[in-house]
Amino acid sequence: MAATIMDGKALAAKVKEEVREQTSKMERKPGLAVVLVGDDPASRVYVNGKRRDCGECGIYSEEYALPAETSQQELLELVETLNGREDIDGILVQLPLPRHLDEKAVLLAIRPDKDVDCFHPFNVGQLMIGEAYLRPCTPAGIMRMLKEYGIDPEGKHCVIVGRSNIVGKPQAMLMLQENATVTVCHTRTRDLKAECLKADILVAAAGRAGLISGDMVKEGAVVVDVAMNRSEAGKLCGDVVYDEAAERASYITPVPGGVGPMTRAMLMENTLRAAWQHGKR
Ligand code: NAP
Repeated sequence: MAATIMDGKALAAKVKEEVREQTSKMERKPGLAVVLVGDDPASRVYVNGKRRDCGECGIYSEEYALPAETSQQELLELVETLNGREDIDGILVQLPLPRHLDEKAVLLAIRPDKDVDCFHPFNVGQLMIGEAYLRPCTPAGIMRMLKEYGIDPEGKHCVIVGRSNIVGKPQAMLMLQENATVTVCHTRTRDLKAECLKADILVAAAGRAGLISGDMVKEGAVVVDVAMNRSEAGKLCGDVVYDEAAERASYITPVPGGVGPMTRAMLMENTLRAAWQHGKR
């Protein structure tokens, strides 16, 4: 069976267009502040992408590029200032932070209604009880992609490989909310292959190139590859051995061009939703 490729790039363009349509009608535009500490090249690329996305979506954006030696106090003061500004609806502190900074304390300082990454414990709790207003971008992007391709998780067995706070766990919550039966795997899972073979929907988010080979994919399964790894040849790749899996899957996401663009698009949607919540119309 040749799998249908789920085109995250095209769908992300559609989501961003929807956001642009909404912002074009708004008198007060949504605003996003992105804070980058230090000079990590990958983080710089992400921040540039976010600024471009804001421009395309009619979202006002501000960037704070702080030196690596910024103190905890200085960073918290900036967050506090942004918390208080009416023109800023979303605050994103690009992770990872330099080691001397306390990431948890910084994320906790962001006002939950401006926490467009959905990392604040309040928003994580809302997600847990099924009442999230802002949803974490990567898992929300995956849910949107499944919907777009007419894949209803209800009653399906969803196996998620990875239990991180930003992907695996919130993905499990969103899948449960859509009435899937969920298994979450990690490094202590005894027989990963056996678990994966039970999946109607397999979400790979381990960050290990080649971890999911074709023989771990059930015939007709939907395969979503979240990971962004570098192969030995330096090529961007996911966790799934794509060519093998595509022969057995019914739907599959490519890397790049799958989940990544959807994550960025959902950040734009969250910023719009935050602005709505702040009374901007
Ligand atoms: P993470 O915090 O490193 O978590 C990885 C998870 O995978 C952990 O729970 C780990 O288990 C599990 N794992 C690792 N090796 C495994 C193995 N051999 N067998 C079973 N489970 C294994 O990573 P993350 O932040 O969730 O990100 C995961 C991947 O997604 C990365 O490649 C990252 O770059 C990518 N990502 C992509 C996007 C996007 O927009 N496309 C967004 C976020 C992340 P333990 O808990 O037992 O250690």
